[in-house]
Amino acid sequence: MAWESEDSRHEGYIEYVFADGFAGSGWSAGGVTLITNPDGSPIPYGDRPASRPPAGIVGWRVACNCDGRRGAWRGELWTRGETTSVAARVLRVPDDQVDDIDGLPVGKLLRDQWARHLGPAYAELVDVRAATAAVDLARDGLNAAVAAARAAGASWEAVGDAAGITRQSAHERWGTR
Ligand SMILES: [Zn+2]
Repeated sequence: MAWESEDSRHEGYIEYVFADGFAGSGWSAGGVTLITNPDGSPIPYGDRPASRPPAGIVGWRVACNCDGRRGAWRGELWTRGETTSVAARVLRVPDDQVDDIDGLPVGKLLRDQWARHLGPAYAELVDVRAATAAVDLARDGLNAAVAAARAAGASWEAVGDAAGITRQSAHERWGTR
């Protein structure tokens, strides 16, 4: 999984860090593919060591290929622990979910960190995305609540009343669902 900036100059991705400093990206049944040396330099395709089991991952960090330079920027390391603490950058991630942390809060936190690396305008866009997601979620909740009220026998007049709109507006908005 990788994220590209709108001007295509930055490509962000998550690196899985192992105890000896090697880091990988991407996960398959064979394990994590190592792509970065302990000194931060990229490992060329032909020289990549054997994949490693994800249980050996000790930390995560977000990295960016800036203007085509592989791993040109890296965020701070988030370490693996028993309890998640955003302030301490400690994450509790079950072994069987390390291949898809994008869907979990950890993936979002790391992505936000990468977005801030892109500059102040992008940082604001992070807030726009978060607010949009919150609005979408609230809208879904409202639609479900209206459907439940209708199923329970509420009239369009009552639904409109509860939503602060007219009977007709309520019917136009939710009537075809
Ligand atoms: Zn970058």
